[in-house]
Amino acid sequence: MRIWDISMPVHAEMPVWKGKDEKRPHLIVTRDFQNGKGGRETRLVMDAHTGTHVDAPLHFIQGGKTLDQIPMEQLIRKAKVIDLSAIQDVILPEHFAGHGISRGDFVLFKTLNSTEPILERDFVYISGKAARALVDMGVVGVGIDSLGVERDQPDHATHLALLSAGVIIIEGLRLDHVPAGEYLMIAAPLRIMGVEAAPARVILTDLLDPDDQY
Ligand SMILES: [Zn+2]
Repeated sequence: MRIWDISMPVHAEMPVWKGKDEKRPHLIVTRDFQNGKGGRETRLVMDAHTGTHVDAPLHFIQGGKTLDQIPMEQLIRKAKVIDLSAIQDVILPEHFAGHGISRGDFVLFKTLNSTEPILERDFVYISGKAARALVDMGVVGVGIDSLGVERDQPDHATHLALLSAGVIIIEGLRLDHVPAGEYLMIAAPLRIMGVEAAPARVILTDLLDPDDQY
């Protein structure tokens, strides 16, 4: 079985939202070996939206579902990697129209974000119109290799269109080493209660049986 780890490594110098210093994770060693004895413990201080993470409706919908209310069946399932690496700047509906997206798909967009040093500033993002088109097409989840599905649009049109339709969002994927195609996805956000997002390890493997329903 082949395994593609599509999670972003978490460390102090990793790319963060808009390059903001306050968004950088801190890994503080609170206890360490003394003369070869004892042990080591690290305290982790970081945003729930650090690196690869899953967004729940509560992120932009007041009173919306929290992350722990998303059933794992929606996160461990078939997913389609769609290569949009020819797109600069913003993903529009016409860019994914010919890629065979059908109702019930969980799509993962592979873009220049996976290969170019643009993650903190000029990253490729999904327009509000494209998000509404994805909802109309019946997708159940959207993953992207940027730290946000949108670039801080004032009305949050992309997040709102997806989250209000119950579409799951995964951000911060690493897809440079993954060819377009269908995979079994295992997306496992930390089981933190009552939050709007949580960091996740996201893995792709070969589909065990392409006809299987996941
Ligand atoms: Zn987020």
